[in-house]
Amino acid sequence: MKKTFVTLFSAALLLSACGSTVQPPAQSLSPSSSSAPSSDTAAGTAAPVKQEAAAAPSPAEQAVQKPAAEQTPAPVPSPAQAATEIKKEYKMNKNYDIVPIDASGNKKVVLLTFDDGPKEKELLDSLFDTLDKHKAKAIFFMNGYRIKSHPELLKLVDERGGILGNHSYDHIDLKKQTNEKVDQQLDDVNKLMKDIVGKTPQFFRPPFGSGSDYVKEKAKKEHMLYMTWSNGSLDWEMTNAKNDPKAVVKNVLDQLHAGSNILMHELPWTAQALDQLLAQLEEKGYSFVDPRAIEVDVQ
Ligand SMILES: [Zn+2]
Repeated sequence: MKKTFVTLFSAALLLSACGSTVQPPAQSLSPSSSSAPSSDTAAGTAAPVKQEAAAAPSPAEQAVQKPAAEQTPAPVPSPAQAATEIKKEYKMNKNYDIVPIDASGNKKVVLLTFDDGPKEKELLDSLFDTLDKHKAKAIFFMNGYRIKSHPELLKLVDERGGILGNHSYDHIDLKKQTNEKVDQQLDDVNKLMKDIVGKTPQFFRPPFGSGSDYVKEKAKKEHMLYMTWSNGSLDWEMTNAKNDPKAVVKNVLDQLHAGSNILMHELPWTAQALDQLLAQLEEKGYSFVDPRAIEVDVQ
């Protein structure tokens, strides 16, 4: 009985993680085969599914799935609201790396991201304490169902200066969903964020890095920059926290390159590793990109 539970729990932990279990290849490979998961990049060359882009979500279907969240009209994107005075000095390339817009800009930067929250106040406080210590900003790619359960944690992320990211409502493989379902998965998160903290996210990352042309179109339509990652910490594969903080640091440093888009999660060993990781990145001369300095409406 106990064993079954442990097995199921472990399986659930694995399933809840973002990435594939395959270590991303070195960045020197071609864009279509680099660190982003193959399930995502495989769709990169397919023709866009434009004829369905304007399809409205079915109210009936949504009502069945999310009655509470569907009582009001779809949120109106408000990119202006999330915009700040911070100058757009960076853009994302096809490898999901962050590069300076001006060729003379500082290339030696990394983007910090944390997926699958918001989960726990203690964990978030720890992450933000460390980020503050290093004067670093990060994107928090969050799931709607978690925000729905803990709206106060979304407020915490926002109040402590976390940059909001949409990671779908249910953390499902969007590549396998209908366009209507994709719309609902993205719209419902934006609506929740708008209702709770009064702003909508400018960044979108599909669960498991698994998207499609339609998912990319939808993110763009909602003024969100679509990204997977280019440096996976592999923290989602770790289940024994004892030595794992060191492994988180090592995994990131092993894949480190200019513009690294670093995927991490709201996990205890990642929180434990963060101070050491940021210190080592700084020692190597890297700066942390403020996500608000990244161009969003150019894809
Ligand atoms: Zn995820």
